[in-house]
Amino acid sequence: MDSSFVNAAKEILGDKGCLQGQDVGARFFTDEHGTSEIIPSLVCRPKSTAELSEIMKLCHKTGQPVAVQCGMTGLVEAARPRECEIVISLERMNKIEETSVETGTMIVQAGTKLQIFQETAEEHDLFFALDLGSRGSCTIGGNLATNAGGNRVIRYALTAQAMTNRNQAPRICPGIGET
Ligand SMILES: Cc1cc2nc3c(=O)[nH]c(=O)nc-3n(C[C@H](O)[C@H](O)[C@H](O)COP(=O)(O)OP(=O)(O)OC[C@H]3O[C@@H](n4cnc5c(N)ncnc54)[C@H](O)[C@@H]3O)c2cc1C
Repeated sequence: MDSSFVNAAKEILGDKGCLQGQDVGARFFTDEHGTSEIIPSLVCRPKSTAELSEIMKLCHKTGQPVAVQCGMTGLVEAARPRECEIVISLERMNKIEETSVETGTMIVQAGTKLQIFQETAEEHDLFFALDLGSRGSCTIGGNLATNAGGNRVIRYALTAQAMTNRNQAPRICPGIGET
């Protein structure tokens, strides 16, 4: 990995936001199909939309390919890093920023686990229709990226539709790194 890229990434994310070598745990290259032989040379872990935006700008400017990861529960190896890809992990972007009963909206970071989202909605007498067996590990960002179906899909439709139907569910407001 080019050291000037790593230094620039550390300037954006800080030391804790960049993992290399022994610090790259197996969770960053293990999915439902098992553990990959390809170990990413760098894992970037932004903790805010601003940091995510800056690191993506750096990758774009330098032509650095990325594998974006949220809960790693996808079933088609899409979040698994390939050769030359660095990982952009949203595991630290897991905050619920706002819940409004009046407007029926929740603003959460993309790495928020689906189960936490559901439970927070319930605490406010709201109902979020999406539900998957992987609810304890998958995230809202991953759900949106895959347009997940889940076990209530026939009644409430896919994630993208459920997200905008305010009669059934808290609406999730999309943004870069925020959903
Ligand atoms: C037990 C079990 C049950 C499941 N049941 C269902 C089901 O009923 N219906 C269903 O549709 N799926 C199901 N899945 C599959 C999986 O849980 C869903 O696809 C889930 O939406 C993936 O979310 P994730 O956070 O784990 O995403 P990841 O696996 O981390 O990522 C999945 C894909 O989305 C991309 N991605 C993730 N986050 C972002 C982001 N913030 N921005 C841009 N791209 C992003 C990744 O690069 C990758 O391509 C199940 C899986 C398991 C293990």
